[in-house]
Amino acid sequence: MWLDGIMRQACRAWMKGRFGMSGCVFCRIAARAAPARLLYEDEQCVAFEDIHPRAPVHLLVIPRKHIPGLGADVGGEEMLLGHLLAVAARMAREKGIEQSGFRCVINTNPAAGQTVYHLHLHVMGGRVMRWPPG
Ligand code: 5GP
Ligand code: ZN
Repeated sequence: MWLDGIMRQACRAWMKGRFGMSGCVFCRIAARAAPARLLYEDEQCVAFEDIHPRAPVHLLVIPRKHIPGLGADVGGEEMLLGHLLAVAARMAREKGIEQSGFRCVINTNPAAGQTVYHLHLHVMGGRVMRWPPG
C-alpha cells in the first residue's frame, strides 16, 4: 500500500517536471502530451480546435504558461494577454470569419461557466451569435 503511494508520488513528480502542471489538460496539450487539433503555435501560445464546438468555428487560444484564468493574478501579463488577442484575430482571419463576424470569450470562474482552469480564449463564429450571451 505504502509502495503504491510512493509510486504515485514519484509519477506525479516526474510528470510535473516534464509537463509543468501535469494535472492540467491544456498544459498537456501545449506540451503535445495530449492530443488536439493544433491550428497555430509560437513560443507564447497555442491555438487548437475545441473538442465540443458550439459554433461552426470554435477554437481556443491558450498561453503556454499555466495561468488559471483572468480572475487570477494576471498583473504583469499585459504583453501576453495582448498577444493572445492578436492570435485570436489571426485565427479568425485564417478561418474566414473575420468579415462575417466572430466572438472572443473568456469565461472566468464558476458563474461564468469556466470549466478548465488554464486561461483560454474562445474564438467562435460561422453563425449568428445572440446577445447577451446566456
Ligand atoms: P470553459 O468552459 O472553461 O470556458 O471552456 C473550456 C473549453 O475547453 C470547453 O469549450 C471544452 O469543450 C474545451 N475542452 C475541454 N477539454 C478539452 C480537451 O481535452 N481538448 C480540447 N480540444 N478542448 C477541450
Ligand atoms: Zn495549465
